[in-house]
Amino acid sequence: MSRHDHKATDRASGFRGNKAQLPSKPCTVCGRPMVWRKAWAKNWDEVKVCSDACRAQGARDRRAAAR
Ligand SMILES: [Zn+2]
Repeated sequence: MSRHDHKATDRASGFRGNKAQLPSKPCTVCGRPMVWRKAWAKNWDEVKVCSDACRAQGARDRRAAAR
């Protein structure tokens, strides 16, 4: 065992470890990266937009494209 070694890795992984594991994908409307949220745990695959504003925008664009 080497003490200083453990300390170094602990510091490095402790800082980034959590967020690095969260999935993320771009909002289909504004293109900004959406980072996984607990609220989306059940329907992450269905989440396409980052906010209600973008959802409204996306719905509008879809209707416009359909007609
Ligand atoms: Zn968006």
